[in-house]
Amino acid sequence: MRRNDELAQWDRDHFMHPSTHLAQHARGEAMGRIIRTASGVHIEDRNGRRMLDAFAGLYCVNVGYGRTEIADAIAAQARELAYYHAYVGHGTEASITLARMVLERAPDHMSKVYFGLSGSDANETNIKLIWYYNNILGRPRKKKIISRWRGYHGSGLMTGSLTGLEVFHAKFDLPMDGVMHTTAPYYFRRDDVSQSEAQFVAQCAADLEEMIDREGADTIAAFWAEPLLGTGGIVPPPKGYWDAIQPILRRHDILLVADEVVTGFGRLGTMFGSEHYGMRPDLITIAKGLTSAYAPLSGSIVSDDVWKVLERGTDENGPLGHGWTYSAHPIGTAAGVANLELLDSLGLVDQAGAVGAYLNARMAEALADHPHVGEVRGDGMLCAVELVADRDPRTFFEPDRKMGATVVGHLAEQDVIARAMPGGDILGFAPPFCLSRDNVDEIVEKTVTAIAQAGL
Ligand code: PLP
Repeated sequence: MRRNDELAQWDRDHFMHPSTHLAQHARGEAMGRIIRTASGVHIEDRNGRRMLDAFAGLYCVNVGYGRTEIADAIAAQARELAYYHAYVGHGTEASITLARMVLERAPDHMSKVYFGLSGSDANETNIKLIWYYNNILGRPRKKKIISRWRGYHGSGLMTGSLTGLEVFHAKFDLPMDGVMHTTAPYYFRRDDVSQSEAQFVAQCAADLEEMIDREGADTIAAFWAEPLLGTGGIVPPPKGYWDAIQPILRRHDILLVADEVVTGFGRLGTMFGSEHYGMRPDLITIAKGLTSAYAPLSGSIVSDDVWKVLERGTDENGPLGHGWTYSAHPIGTAAGVANLELLDSLGLVDQAGAVGAYLNARMAEALADHPHVGEVRGDGMLCAVELVADRDPRTFFEPDRKMGATVVGHLAEQDVIARAMPGGDILGFAPPFCLSRDNVDEIVEKTVTAIAQAGL
């Protein structure tokens, strides 16, 4: 086995990490952690330190770590058939079975699933499918996409453009042309604090209408949205939001894409966030929870109506010119089948709903009245605590103080991993679904301590 100091040196010398301060990491100034193993809700690093992972990796290890059922399925698939492509109608038992399982769980009006590898590439696929769709329908101008400030849809060229967080744009020359961002459905951060929730929702709807009128509905193809803002702050939609937005989209013949990379497969205590919030999307993006991250796999689910146009397109133009070498990779799809079976057999979607409700209730009980907590919010197995300098009038901390990251650091000192969400001092919690009530009590208690340790 390699020595830890040797690995750490190699890491600094050779490994360029995603979403990392590259210079500080290479100089050895930034925190790094070399993970060795994990089980249930705990990860363990190479120094033998065990931590409760209250963010399930990047909200993806939904069934928890160390599930031998999935590991065995991956190993068996690798032995029998590690790879074959899915081009020109090829498939495997795993890819075909998983497609069926996904559609059995998806909203009734969905028709087919295309498999990719990451949430970013699945969104990229959906953009291309929508452009293709409008070309087949003879509407070559209808191509622009509206997403929301604080939405997160990946970090590719187009998907990074859809993402509505400054840090993913700056110095990358993003967003690209044809992507526009409308108001974030983030009631706590509304500009006008005197607005009621209903007034704020009306404003979100009016802002959208105004953008559509300005640009021309004949130039706008789709509206891209997470059912609940995830990386942008873990913000459930304000009451009535989807009821206000969807009729506008329908009126202007704008497709709705539900990016369910976080919410798909149970995180809200329902199979999909769309059903949870009464959305009727035309396309759905899935990833993380599809395999609980035991192997990279994503999917683009298309509705019956969209599918019919795609079919017509290939009848008119020949095969679809879109595909990845690793689309529907057998190892990923075998992991997906085992993961969805486990989700069912252990009743983990219900557990996410029940224990998630307990987490949100306990967190609110412990912190909602704290003078430096502006809001405790969440839904299902997602919870956020937003820190403020002052509650009344609502005043945020100067970003330089990095209060969110400081509290998350104090939580890590107590062996609990939370995430400092970008764009504010927001503590994010998105644990695996197998979290117990005792785990919840530990997370809440240590969060209270960490906030105190940060001097708040
Ligand atoms: N969409 C949403 C809602 C996400 O949260 C993420 C990742 O966190 C993505 C897309 C991008 O997925 P990936 O990082 O697998 O490309």
